[in-house]
Amino acid sequence: MPQVDEFGLISRLFAPLAARHPGALGLTDDAALLDCPPGHRLVLTADALVAGVHFFPDDPADLIARKAVRVNVSDLAAMGARPAAVMLAACFPKGTPFSWMECFASGLKADLEEFAIPLIGGDTVATPGPATFSITALGYVENGQELRRSTARSGDSLWVSGTIGDAALGLLVAQGQGGDLSETDLAALLDRYRLPRPRLALGPALTGLASACMDVSDGLVGDLGHICKASGVGAILNADAVPLSKAAQAMIAARPDLLETALTGGDDYELLFTAPPSAAAELEVLSRTLGLRLSRIGTIIEGQGVLVRRSNGEPLPLHSGSYRHF
Ligand code: ADP
Ligand code: MG
Repeated sequence: MPQVDEFGLISRLFAPLAARHPGALGLTDDAALLDCPPGHRLVLTADALVAGVHFFPDDPADLIARKAVRVNVSDLAAMGARPAAVMLAACFPKGTPFSWMECFASGLKADLEEFAIPLIGGDTVATPGPATFSITALGYVENGQELRRSTARSGDSLWVSGTIGDAALGLLVAQGQGGDLSETDLAALLDRYRLPRPRLALGPALTGLASACMDVSDGLVGDLGHICKASGVGAILNADAVPLSKAAQAMIAARPDLLETALTGGDDYELLFTAPPSAAAELEVLSRTLGLRLSRIGTIIEGQGVLVRRSNGEPLPLHSGSYRHF
């Protein structure tokens, strides 16, 4: 195994990912330079992934890197922003093999190329603690067009992209609790847990159309509660309208208690947004254009809190909230 110091790691693993952005200065200076297009604002977000908390220490290194990128750019999409660049603080446990770091960098490269985003800076350190990767994502949104959580209005419809619950059920699959699902269903759920699909095209397309938006990272019901609180409104969520994949439907059919897991579990990285009822036709068109399912799952009402109901109007009692770190 070659002995590579911090600067060797930066030039060999990370500088190639900065090549497309002149302001990154090849990762050879102290910091990067970034222009903001006229009429736009910078949108910034950071998320850390910690071994043992956000991923299993023996997960494939390239997937860890890709997940770190994806959860961050998902936050940009949730603001209606287009990604411009990312920065990475990589804390590798002392003694991490170079091959592991190479694999990590290859995953980073794959996703940054897929999303056409340059790496423009960061930090590389050894840590006595668990592997920790913090990514800062920077994007742009036209002045005044950002999608906030605080601007939902009573009477708005509640929408969500894609399908909900796959990642939370995928985590159960990773823990060996997949039951006797088919191999295809097991693989589909596991994949959604390991590799979120940030809705990068949808977010910017919702500017001017959605009244409020966030990405679902900690669980649909809990995250909806955040929109309600920030907007000073309540919501009725129709549990039977929440879109479930075939694999999730199969797993819930075998264990009906897992509907609650799907509604409250985390890691979906879909966009949850509100829009006036008049936007419905345009949202249908957008859904077809993007080839992405958009489902109406409820209504914003006056008051506070989230009421979860079945289609027949019966309340669905939920026992768990969303994931909390503290
Ligand atoms: P400092 O000594 O100020 O911490 P470094 O030597 O760590 O600076 O970093 C040198 C350059 O390399 C900087 O431009 C920094 O942004 C970049 N850099 C360091 N680590 C990474 C990384 N993991 N990803 C991207 N850029 C990095
Ligand atoms: Mg440094």
